[in-house]
Amino acid sequence: MRHFIALFACSLVMLHASANEPPAHAAKPEADAARKLAADIAKPASAKPAADKADKAAPAADKAAADKAAALAIARAADKSVADKAAAEKEPKGEKAVDKPGKTSASTADKAASAISATSEEDAEVDLSVRIAERLAEMRAKQAARMAAAAKAKKAAEAKRKKEAAAAAAVAVAAAAPKISNHWDYEGEFGPENWGKINPAWSQCGAGKRQSPIDIRDGMKVSLDEIDFNYRYSDYTEVDNGKTVQVNLARGNFMTIGNQSYELVQFHFHRPSEEKINGKGTEMVIHLEHRGPGGKLAIVAVLLERGKANDAIQTVWNNIPLEKNQQVASSEPLDPLELLPERREYYTYMGSQTTPPCTENVLWLVMKQPMTASPAQMALFSRLYPLNARPVQESEGRMVKESN
Ligand SMILES: [Zn+2]
Repeated sequence: MRHFIALFACSLVMLHASANEPPAHAAKPEADAARKLAADIAKPASAKPAADKADKAAPAADKAAADKAAALAIARAADKSVADKAAAEKEPKGEKAVDKPGKTSASTADKAASAISATSEEDAEVDLSVRIAERLAEMRAKQAARMAAAAKAKKAAEAKRKKEAAAAAAVAVAAAAPKISNHWDYEGEFGPENWGKINPAWSQCGAGKRQSPIDIRDGMKVSLDEIDFNYRYSDYTEVDNGKTVQVNLARGNFMTIGNQSYELVQFHFHRPSEEKINGKGTEMVIHLEHRGPGGKLAIVAVLLERGKANDAIQTVWNNIPLEKNQQVASSEPLDPLELLPERREYYTYMGSQTTPPCTENVLWLVMKQPMTASPAQMALFSRLYPLNARPVQESEGRMVKESN
């Protein structure tokens, strides 16, 4: 072994001495041989497979470190071999080198020999073995750390997956559970088809048998009581409540049917008309809500078609609040009589509110003659509410009467 190291080191020294720039192809075999040599030195035979394995498994950075260690081994071996060679020339092998200054040609060898003489060959090999063993231990520790990190990441990913699955299950449970909300709309998830399911208090929207609006047809033509409207110029507050524009009137406006009197509370608008007559609706409708004895609701519906502008509607549009849900007092009174058609014939049936909670036992009075609003007046409302009408509901065999 020692002779081989010396021979190899001498050949390296000669190679470098004979050529300033050694051929490029010589570098790699030299490095390979050096690494092998370092491994041979550092490891007992039993440990070599493990070393090879570690060498193969090691990433590039570790390989570079190993190469460095190998180069160190070569350098040490070279120094040692030069020293040995010099020592061999001067003294019998096995004896300690003695410093003999004087000859210029032998000075380099003498210096090397004296440096090496401090440490025995066995000590150098042990030292190198310890260094390489330390490096291998370090590499193994790094590999163990990588494996531990990978295991930890896998465990974390599994925990995350379980957590997400649990969250998804919770969402599914929540979705299956009945939702209670006070929000409703005219389209989508909170639209008319689902009103009855959104809130238990609105169950009649889905389950009621006297719901409004309806498609009015096959009315029984009879002599109905004439509606006596006692409306007058009134102050009011106005609100855009997010579902429509609503006018809340000051007290004092009444209608009387037979011997029953109802007070006008508010009116509001829908687009298109909720009511249909023989399958046909109109562009808009006004609902005038009245309260009778015991709070009984009576609603007069006035269908709106395109035509002449309506003064009362214009007054309402002029006073639409800038902000939703903001009640604004009127700057000028309006006369609700201007919302009514000249002719007073009507259809009547028992129905419900057309918005949640869809309370039933509402007396509906739908005026046969439509009123008009100008295209500009129609367009203004449609900018705010292009669609705020509940679809027609089943008639369920209800009686509809109409003025003959
Ligand atoms: Zn309405």
